[in-house]
Amino acid sequence: MHHDPDCLFCKIIEGKIPSQKVHEDELVYAFKDIRPWAPIHFLIVPREHIASMEQAGPEHARLLSHMLLLGPRLAREQGSNPYPDGGYRLQINTGTEGGQEVYHLHMHVVAGARPWLKS
Ligand code: ADP
Repeated sequence: MHHDPDCLFCKIIEGKIPSQKVHEDELVYAFKDIRPWAPIHFLIVPREHIASMEQAGPEHARLLSHMLLLGPRLAREQGSNPYPDGGYRLQINTGTEGGQEVYHLHMHVVAGARPWLKS
């Protein structure tokens, strides 16, 4: 499995940098965002170092579907209000103009308040 020793999220997954764990399994690690946009804000991160969605391919189909289906489940477990009045946002920033700052693929899961959209 590809790993980048200089990558912030690889270090978090390895436990070299502390984080507030939300979930872990064989494919992903999920932890609370350090600068939350809303009362519930965590990141779902593949254990494998994939820089962004631009590097994702068909070989990552199982991982990506797992991330997408895990987001709603974890949002509910973290206390998001019931659909449809409540809900959550699943967001994958990609590249500079996509707002990506950390180049290890991650999905933001944000819930619990409106308006919370990042400017
Ligand atoms: P953006 O900062 O524009 O949201 P990204 O989509 O790349 O860019 O998201 C990186 C996220 O990682 C940010 O929301 C940031 O707050 C979060 N983050 C950075 N360092 C840490 C850390 N040590 N622990 C938890 N979250 C972190």
